[in-house]
Amino acid sequence: MEKYLSQLNDAQLEPTVQIEGPMIVIAGAGSGKTRVLTYRIAYMMSKGIDPFNILSLTFTNKAAREMKERIATIVGDSEAKNLWMGTFHSVFARILRAEADKLGYPSNFTIYDTQDSDRLIASIIKEMNLDKDVYKYKQVRSRISSYKNSLITVRAYFQNPELKEADAMARRPRMGDIYKEYVERCFKAGVMDFDDLLLKTNELLTRFPDVLMKYQNRFRYILVDEYQDTNHSQYLIVRALSDKFQNICVVGDDAQSIYAFRGANINNILNFQKDYDDVKVFRLEQNYRSTKNIVNAANSIIDKNQTKLDKIVWTANDEGEQIKVHRSLTDGDEGRYVASTIWENKMNNQLKNSDFAILYRTNAQSRAIEDALRKRDIKYRIYGGLSFYQRKEIKDVLSYLRLIINPADEEALKRVINFPPRGIGQTTMDKLIVSANGYNRTIFEVMKNIDKTNVKVNSGTKTKLQNFVTLIESYQVLNQTADVFELAEHVTRTSGLIREFNKDGTPEGVTRMENIEELLNGMKDFVEGQKEIADTTGNLAEFLEDVALATDLDADKGDADHVALMTIHLAKGLEFPYVFIVGLEEDLFPSAMSMNTRSELEEERRLFYVALTRAEKQAYLTYALSRYRWGKLIDSEPSRFIEEIDEQYLDVVTPIEERRFNPMLDADIFGDVEDSKVNPNKIRFKPAKKAVLKKGSTNKTQEKFQVTAPKNLKPVSKTGGNTNLFDSKLVVGNVVKHIRFGTGKVMKIEGKGADIKAEINFQHGGLKKLLLRFAKLEVV
Ligand code: ATP
Ligand code: MG
Repeated sequence: MEKYLSQLNDAQLEPTVQIEGPMIVIAGAGSGKTRVLTYRIAYMMSKGIDPFNILSLTFTNKAAREMKERIATIVGDSEAKNLWMGTFHSVFARILRAEADKLGYPSNFTIYDTQDSDRLIASIIKEMNLDKDVYKYKQVRSRISSYKNSLITVRAYFQNPELKEADAMARRPRMGDIYKEYVERCFKAGVMDFDDLLLKTNELLTRFPDVLMKYQNRFRYILVDEYQDTNHSQYLIVRALSDKFQNICVVGDDAQSIYAFRGANINNILNFQKDYDDVKVFRLEQNYRSTKNIVNAANSIIDKNQTKLDKIVWTANDEGEQIKVHRSLTDGDEGRYVASTIWENKMNNQLKNSDFAILYRTNAQSRAIEDALRKRDIKYRIYGGLSFYQRKEIKDVLSYLRLIINPADEEALKRVINFPPRGIGQTTMDKLIVSANGYNRTIFEVMKNIDKTNVKVNSGTKTKLQNFVTLIESYQVLNQTADVFELAEHVTRTSGLIREFNKDGTPEGVTRMENIEELLNGMKDFVEGQKEIADTTGNLAEFLEDVALATDLDADKGDADHVALMTIHLAKGLEFPYVFIVGLEEDLFPSAMSMNTRSELEEERRLFYVALTRAEKQAYLTYALSRYRWGKLIDSEPSRFIEEIDEQYLDVVTPIEERRFNPMLDADIFGDVEDSKVNPNKIRFKPAKKAVLKKGSTNKTQEKFQVTAPKNLKPVSKTGGNTNLFDSKLVVGNVVKHIRFGTGKVMKIEGKGADIKAEINFQHGGLKKLLLRFAKLEVV
């Protein structure tokens, strides 16, 4: 252990060896907070503390896994296995399962992911005959989620006239009724949604003092990473569990609190010292992650926030390169710049794909980047899209499995009762739902006892329903002897799923089959893995819980070499040698939706701080002057965050010059075919606003006005063209001049008539494909 402690600096060592009592480590990015937590746990174990008594909560399961691995290298594998470590959701799902009966849930309760919740809410809205344009199910879901995370139960809701009033003001007076119905339906179905995992844990700990005591005694030592992003529900759980022994260690950085929109409460970290007696406060100041340039630039930006704890962050690392700022004409160009920079860097410096990350504000931005990476044959992976377990075919298989352990699971049932098709239509389903609600029974129970119910269906349908019940029951019998893998293998075959996906032989069908195979492989791994851990039984419920709580980040086994693409929110806690932050434009980042109040803007700024501090060696900031958003070409101006960085840390690659609206100039944006998937005549676009990057310039409020594409933007007719080489004798090998891209050599000509395109290698802009009817080229 001594050897490992020497890998910490003095400031880090102090909190690491401070085992007893409440303590907080507040420190900036990259200063070793996560490292302190990791080494502290190893140190505690080396001092004889039983790993079963240590609970540590991380932001992602991936982070927990990595911590555990690191601890295992210090104290040995077998001991590290016994640590309670994971996200709030995964740790407390496990506890809830053990205590489920107290709350009236089956211990085999299943978990609804957001998609399941959405579907149930949509169906409730429909059953209640509400206008789905007023009651948008996603908004309703997020409202319900925020009630739950603030511990507002249905009863509390109806007791609070202010809440009812607020929803009525938002034109949703029936909000409370939907909430009530949703909660009842979930309960009846024996399922919990993500927020329930925290809400019900709170309920468990407050209603049952003996249970609280049991877990207080078990978790004598509690550690929380990324404490700044805990919500109220999580805060209360930590408080309750740590109340007896008060051995609580939290680490965090208020400057990296970025989940307020999901209920995170920055006050949890700001008020920690008031919550416990004799809190020891530790500060770390030395950053080990990034170059001086990056650290100083990040400091200069976070300095602009008014609400913050004062912190010092410095580094002994090299000066490093300045941060590169790059302007592109379009989002397509931006993608190409990023791809070509990665490509060159890889060549020149012998780097791997995994040395690079591309971070963006919104998922939609990945498309243009992906296109460019693909053209350069650079392997990449997008994180945070649809997770593997949410793909259709995978959810189909999982729904059968969910029904096996919990036939009450309504959403699972609805999903597969008629998939593969069994002739059980929507009308029958509607009858079953109405009847189930009437009898206060589950749909499955109604189906099973169809003769004793008021459901009117013909005898053919009745047989079909009974066959489905028999099918699921036969799986339940098998589940008593088979492991997860054997069971799933049997289910996919006998349910007809495989036949269904194999049927048409389309590429999609093949991909689906491959995914199912991958799922089965994963199950095999799970079964093998469970055999090694004596503690767990390796049952189906546990497997389903694992996958329900898996995030896309968790699926990454770290073996493939790819560029990482993700939103900044997802990148928290991670680090990469080279980081591109793309789409740094006003209204995109900061987001148009987050500029109304100072606190919203400050959260955007913290987000930018998180993004920048992910970089170890080099950061690139890019923005485009125009970008496709919602199918339209929108003009944009550089983000204020670029301006806010002290300019000595910046290397502005492209001069940021004034650009005025000029239809002829804009025309050649369309000339760049890769970006012009939309007919320019149909595009409405805004004039460019002044895009001046000068320190101190704050005038962002120049008037915005909309114009339709002017007449002179019409495609030039074959005979009438005079400004281009549309019908000229342009040939491969010609050297041409373009008013924006400069000189370049024609590499290829393709297409006919109005669609003639030339691929031109520009000295500065690189390879571009231009539509000749728009590109104004001059042969030189
Ligand atoms: P974030 O705020 O982004 O979560 P953090 O404070 O948790 O950052 P870590 O991820 O623990 O910081 O550390 C940042 C990097 O610095 C890691 O690569 C870590 O291994 C390294 N590091 C931390 N402390 C030391 C040290 N004393 N000596 C060498 N490397 C260190
Ligand atoms: Mg960290």
